[in-house]
Amino acid sequence: MRGGLTTLVKREKPYVIGPRPVHKHTCVAGEHTWECNSPYCNYMEIECPEHGGPAPIVEGYEPWRGR
Ligand SMILES: [Zn+2]
Ligand SMILES: [Zn+2]
Repeated sequence: MRGGLTTLVKREKPYVIGPRPVHKHTCVAGEHTWECNSPYCNYMEIECPEHGGPAPIVEGYEPWRGR
């Protein structure tokens, strides 16, 4: 695979969506921190989605809310 136009741009904070206050998680798998602003996070020490953790639930897109 070559770079160029198809290179995926890695966002710095892909789990920060909207103006809500941001909190910092500690990824126990990768030993790094990652930020998100989901209002539904209960644990700060949790794997980031890239390391197998669950994706944060975005306010307004709750899976239990339907469409
Ligand atoms: Zn969070
Ligand atoms: Zn991680």
